[in-house]
Amino acid sequence: MEEERREMKGRPVVPPIVRSTTYRFDSIEDLVDVVEHRSGYIYSRWDNPTVRAAERALAEIEGYEEAVGFASGMAAITSAILGFVRASDRVAAIATYGETVRFLSDFLPAIGVSVRQFGPDDADGCHAALDDGVAILYLESPMNPLLRVIDIAALAERAHRRGAVVLLDSTFASPINQRPRELGVDVSLHSATKYIGGHHDVTAGFACADETRGERIWRQRRMLGGVLDPSAAYMIWRGLQTLELRVGRQNETAGRLAQWLVNRPGVRRVHYPGLEIHPDHAIALRQMRGFGGMLSFELDTDGTGTARFMNALSVIQLATSLGGTATLVTQPVTNTHASMSPAERDAAGISDNLVRLSAGLEPFDVLADDIARALRVVE
Ligand SMILES: *Cc1c(COP(=O)(O)O)cnc(C)c1O
Repeated sequence: MEEERREMKGRPVVPPIVRSTTYRFDSIEDLVDVVEHRSGYIYSRWDNPTVRAAERALAEIEGYEEAVGFASGMAAITSAILGFVRASDRVAAIATYGETVRFLSDFLPAIGVSVRQFGPDDADGCHAALDDGVAILYLESPMNPLLRVIDIAALAERAHRRGAVVLLDSTFASPINQRPRELGVDVSLHSATKYIGGHHDVTAGFACADETRGERIWRQRRMLGGVLDPSAAYMIWRGLQTLELRVGRQNETAGRLAQWLVNRPGVRRVHYPGLEIHPDHAIALRQMRGFGGMLSFELDTDGTGTARFMNALSVIQLATSLGGTATLVTQPVTNTHASMSPAERDAAGISDNLVRLSAGLEPFDVLADDIARALRVVE
């Protein structure tokens, strides 16, 4: 390898996918230096050059010193949380992602951590909980599926005064539409399976933080083992090259679709933070640089009519997940919120006729025509 490198001129423009799980050293002293100072590579669960390339690229975009890559968004979320709590600690949270909510309400209490969860309309309750003293404030914004936006800076400031660490799941915003660090977030979390990967072809997650917290999360990953694979890391690096272009287009398409859906016959209500009628529009205006590629809307029909609408779509695909090149729709009651009781759904404002849409890269007219055609089926 060394001889080859000396002979051949030219270096790759993109990071090579390094598959080696272990690394050889010229001396035991060099090996010890890597073990003690993380000054190189020794074993793939610790660090890998391709994973490092993806981590550095995201850290730069997200504006933190460190990004730690995981095998999925949930691996990033659970490993990061576990890095900052111990038994008898308290956690306050405003979150909706199903598996995260389960981790907060089942897993953490089982290991002796008490968790208080609040809805987006109970920020006051969350503020009060912070004053009781918590180890972690865990937030998610914008939230699935009504795109509720919470005032991150206000909550983070209160949490910091009480010495808590602030974690935010910023997946729905992507690194383009929200600057967590500027809002006072200590650890920014992403399911890179969504906007960052962006092509429906890679599962990954990241926790971004300053050097000290980044190191702590990295040690957590080293122990719990949910590390990002080098091939997946390459796909993430590649996705980051076009992230701003894609998200810019997705913001524009979602915004146009939201405007177009308001007042459209057959549509009862549209949820998009960019609309003045959205309850959190003022916060979103202050807090976000773009309103995002996600929207949801309620049809003027029941659950069965809504299913007929979904079945009548042809360009727009019926699929879970979000943030990729293809426009996807789901009916939350049959999918992400299926495990909730009717009372819980009512409280959360999730009705049978609610459709969630993730804007892809197709032309606006093609998407609008598809929706218009499907709406006629429901009439
Ligand atoms: C998808 C998602 C996750 C989980 O990410 P995975 O990559 O599927 O593990 C967490 N939070 C939000 C908001 C998500 O959309």
